[in-house]
Amino acid sequence: MTQAASKAKPAEDAGLFSASAAPAVKRHLVLLGAGHAHVHVLQGLAQDRPADLAITVVAPHARQLYSGMVPGFVAGHYTLDNCMIPLEGLLARCGARYVQGSAAGINAEARSVTLASGATLPYDWLSLNTGPVMDRQQIEEKMPGAREHALFVRPIEAFGQLWPRVMAVARQKKIHLVVVGAGAAGLELAMAAAHALKGASFAPGSRVTLLSGANPPGASYTAGVQRRLAKALQRLRIEVLPETCVGLDSGCIKLGSGQRLACDVPLLALGAQAPAWLAGTGLALDEGGFVAVNGFQQSTSHPAVFAAGDVASRVDAPHPRSGVYAVRAGPPLLANLRAAWQGRPLKPYAPQKRTLNLLSCGGRHAIAVWGGLSVEGAWVWRWKDRIDRKFVADYAV
Ligand SMILES: Cc1cc2nc3c(=O)[nH]c(=O)nc-3n(C[C@H](O)[C@H](O)[C@H](O)COP(=O)(O)OP(=O)(O)OC[C@H]3O[C@@H](n4cnc5c(N)ncnc54)[C@H](O)[C@@H]3O)c2cc1C
Repeated sequence: MTQAASKAKPAEDAGLFSASAAPAVKRHLVLLGAGHAHVHVLQGLAQDRPADLAITVVAPHARQLYSGMVPGFVAGHYTLDNCMIPLEGLLARCGARYVQGSAAGINAEARSVTLASGATLPYDWLSLNTGPVMDRQQIEEKMPGAREHALFVRPIEAFGQLWPRVMAVARQKKIHLVVVGAGAAGLELAMAAAHALKGASFAPGSRVTLLSGANPPGASYTAGVQRRLAKALQRLRIEVLPETCVGLDSGCIKLGSGQRLACDVPLLALGAQAPAWLAGTGLALDEGGFVAVNGFQQSTSHPAVFAAGDVASRVDAPHPRSGVYAVRAGPPLLANLRAAWQGRPLKPYAPQKRTLNLLSCGGRHAIAVWGGLSVEGAWVWRWKDRIDRKFVADYAV
């Protein structure tokens, strides 16, 4: 299956909603992406709206799909709308202009952003929260045929649109879904799909296979968590193959062992990369190509540029890329953006050392991981459900 391409429109005519016609002042804050940190920034700006600042938000979609609830959407616990933060209210309340589109370049010296449409946006301050990408070119080189035949988890918005088509096919006939990648996202999606496919409205006999590569599923977790995950996979009759995908063809996956695995839906849930367009921006990047930021979430090379979430890399305090860190970066990012345009000193922010990980296991059951400790049960799923629904509801108001 191929991924839907995002459609960029010219900045001048693509604004869906615009609270003010033209900026009254020259100072201009541009927010690229409406990720976890930027929804907080927008909410903060709405509560204390700066009169002397024009704000523009560039994002390909007018709603932000919250990834933490996507496995629940696949499992059938949520509708897509349940997992969405609509941006319209947030933008209107802080008087921001919305430009529907994607950034394709930045000239950090000239302080301007180029959109995929070719339009340019000048800025005084810029903040990036565009998330990671699954780089089609890199993946195609490792797995020829992926671009044509695979369903990609990112962009997550496209995945959210395509998944119901998979379910529609599975209502007509049994399917074999193969999830490639057994990290947290791959595991949750495999279990969610296996749970959904057991439903009475689906054709009997569908099955899910997980390709875990050389490592066991959930290899980054402790042995205890891996045991919990293995049991959860067994309960759902998910076959785990310690195989890698080295290519895709119509109806099959080519495995590292040389065998071919028949498959109706190959779902790629692989690690994500930095957007390739960052390379030409002039911004300092880390070795993975992510925007290098300091303790203020500020570019180490260009003080007018800030970045948070998975697109950024804290070179002073490296931490894993996850939604939790992206959420936590929102308040310090807002505070430092404010300080920057008000000419006040910036305040450093120390990301937390460990985070609570709540892994949903298909049905209304989840595993909670905190450092070396883990627990599981239906109550953990209810806990996760409450946290996730509250996160969306807080910004959706
Ligand atoms: C299925 C799944 C489940 C997950 N579950 C969890 C979980 O439970 N907990 C957890 O901590 N992590 C989870 N993750 C990881 C999590 O999704 C990411 O770490 C998180 O999304 C990163 O947040 P972000 O704000 O940096 O970017 P994103 O959430 O990806 O947001 C980026 C935003 O920028 C926009 N954008 C993208 N490119 C451009 C561009 N060029 N120009 C303008 N805008 C752009 C996007 O449309 C989007 O609005 C999960 C991931 C997946 C795939």
